Amino acid sequence: MPLAALEKHLKAALVGEVRRSEPMSRHTSFRIGGPADLYVVCDTVADLAETTRVLAEAGVPWTVVGKGTNILVADAGYRGAIVTLGREFTTHSVEDDRIKTGAACILAYVVRDAFSRGLGGLEFAVGIPGTVGGALAMNAGSRGVWMGSVAESVTLLVPGSGLERVPGNRVEWGYRSSGLPARGVIVESVLKLSRADSDRIRRDMEASLTRRKATQPLGQPSAGSVFVNPPDDSAGRLIESAGLKGTRCGGARVSEVHANFIVNEGGASARDVLALIDKVRMTVRDTHGIELKPEIRFLGSFDIA
Ligand SMILES: Cc1cc2nc3c(=O)[nH]c(=O)nc-3n(C[C@H](O)[C@H](O)[C@H](O)COP(=O)(O)OP(=O)(O)OC[C@H]3O[C@@H](n4cnc5c(N)ncnc54)[C@H](O)[C@@H]3O)c2cc1C
Repeated sequence: MPLAALEKHLKAALVGEVRRSEPMSRHTSFRIGGPADLYVVCDTVADLAETTRVLAEAGVPWTVVGKGTNILVADAGYRGAIVTLGREFTTHSVEDDRIKTGAACILAYVVRDAFSRGLGGLEFAVGIPGTVGGALAMNAGSRGVWMGSVAESVTLLVPGSGLERVPGNRVEWGYRSSGLPARGVIVESVLKLSRADSDRIRRDMEASLTRRKATQPLGQPSAGSVFVNPPDDSAGRLIESAGLKGTRCGGARVSEVHANFIVNEGGASARDVLALIDKVRMTVRDTHGIELKPEIRFLGSFDIA
């Protein structure tokens, strides 16, 4: 089915929204990224099931995106459909020490609500931008505590098969990865927290935020840490000691504040960021003999002619 027909069909069938040639720079924290052929906001599970069904039937590639805080989208954009979750997935509810949350909930809201109810366990997540779905997919975390440690269950929509509830203890949580089925879209999760002293939660969260403000370039567009830490070392330390802080490619620069962050100083292209990533990898390999692996995910084609 040609894209125009797909767009027409989805516009008629969905509660949510369908856009053509949507600039992904509007949907990434890097503020970088060319147009997605289709940008589909699924407001309900039925929207998501129908969207993934017709895209599969038409052979159109698709990928799900949360708030785009951990991705680099190519300058040429994405040939296919970016699927994102809307209304029905943005709510959460609390029962005793459990929070049931839609995948499009902003993680920061859930963290704040847990704190206001005296529920501990999410302090590690304060200051991590993005959605709960993105955080689960990435197993986001900080200082050795991850989403996997509080996820009691994760519900996915598996295209062509339906909803599947996976107990958290059956998921192979890894460092910035979850072993959740690759084609499954996370739609909901239950986070198991524990009653805790509110003053203690506040202190931990404030300490974490203070640390972030002092050590991360929060005022500039970025996608957080670019590389995962190698075993028993820190990517930031390796990059800094290779003399790379402040190195530029076009509008992209290795942050002076945190060497594992690349910031968009204005007008950076995905090509600039990729060239800088390559330069950092090669220099760290030559200096330290260590191969850095990206944490950020790449969307679209990065073939540079
Ligand atoms: C300033 C800054 C600080 C950061 N600090 C941290 C930190 O301390 N710790 C940390 O771990 N990360 C950190 N990050 C990275 C990022 O915020 C997290 O990885 C975040 O959890 C990603 O959420 P998102 O909604 O933006 O996901 P996106 O960036 O939109 O997507 C990330 C990946 O998850 C997949 N995905 C998203 N939603 C779903 C879904 N519903 N179902 C299935 N797959 C999905 C996408 O396909 C993609 O592969 C930071 C980023 C920034 C900009």
